[in-house]
Amino acid sequence: MNLERFIQKKPFIIAGPCSAESEFQLLQIAEEIKDKTDVFRAGIWKPRTNPNSFEGVGEKGLQWLQNVHHLTGLKTMTEVATARHVELCLKAEIDMFWIGARTTVNPFYVQEIAEALRGVNIPIFIKNPIHPEIALWAGALERLYNVGITKLAAIHRGFFTYESSVFRNEPKWEIPIELKRNYPELPIICDPSHIAGDSSFIFELSQIAMDLDMNGLMVETHQSPKDALSDSRQQIKPKELQEILNNLILRKRRFEDNQLNNELNKMRGWIDELDEQIVELLHSRTDLVMNIADFKLKNNITIFQLERWYNILKLRKQQANEIGIDDKMITDLFEVIHKYSIITQTKIMKN
Ligand code: PEP
Ligand code: MN
Repeated sequence: MNLERFIQKKPFIIAGPCSAESEFQLLQIAEEIKDKTDVFRAGIWKPRTNPNSFEGVGEKGLQWLQNVHHLTGLKTMTEVATARHVELCLKAEIDMFWIGARTTVNPFYVQEIAEALRGVNIPIFIKNPIHPEIALWAGALERLYNVGITKLAAIHRGFFTYESSVFRNEPKWEIPIELKRNYPELPIICDPSHIAGDSSFIFELSQIAMDLDMNGLMVETHQSPKDALSDSRQQIKPKELQEILNNLILRKRRFEDNQLNNELNKMRGWIDELDEQIVELLHSRTDLVMNIADFKLKNNITIFQLERWYNILKLRKQQANEIGIDDKMITDLFEVIHKYSIITQTKIMKN
């Protein structure tokens, strides 16, 4: 993709309430955050899980957003989920749109939105799909690019999980990092509000996003979060937004100082040596796995033995706990090792 660099400032800030609730509310928040944010956000059509929840004020909110722009000078942004939303927002001269997580999952909706935008090159931000499928996220970006949108950005808002988590949506930071690897010129904005689901985590998530060199933050900000009609637990007050922005540490990408650079490179050298040893160990392990497969074949027993696998996992988790490293990392690692061990053994059985 050949994208325009429409986001220069870092961190680029998008703030405003989850939902527009009244014109007075929007103007009140906008007035308080106008010198802290680059763009003012507010949802007017809200995709809610439960049909009895507040589903947004709808079309009349567009006029309120226009007034925010006229009275504060802030650029405005809202969520579009259908071609009709796009038409109405374009008519109301909303400056930027985002496509929500529940829309990104559906290529039909994304294509419909893309068609409605053909020939209009305004900034479009695409949230990750609800579940962690990077291809769907990339596909949505490509659909918008194909109709001529070159001011594209991604919004990382975390992923639904069945596992228990302190967060509403699991961050799975590796996914936006992989997206960035595939599209180096694509800005990525972190939405700590929807990841957290709880205002007390907004700062730490924002700091991680900055440390991962993300381009900006979208933070839900409400004049009185406890009274908000949607996402009340995760919204913060304008004053808290100011504190978070003041306390964020923005680190440099690389050292200008040669000595520090040398020190870093020395430590990286040690990492490379360790990684080399890990790969050599995996090589030896694979050799052993092949011997075992041969042995099983000659003696006519099955490849996969569940008790043995549970035992491996148990032993390695015990070791992880004893030496104090994350046993989840060890479990994940051994799942991959085990997967390839089965593949190797199956190949031998077939030959
Ligand atoms: C929102 O930004 O208010 C929203 C509905 O977001 P998401 O699509 O990430 O759930
Ligand atoms: Mn919200």
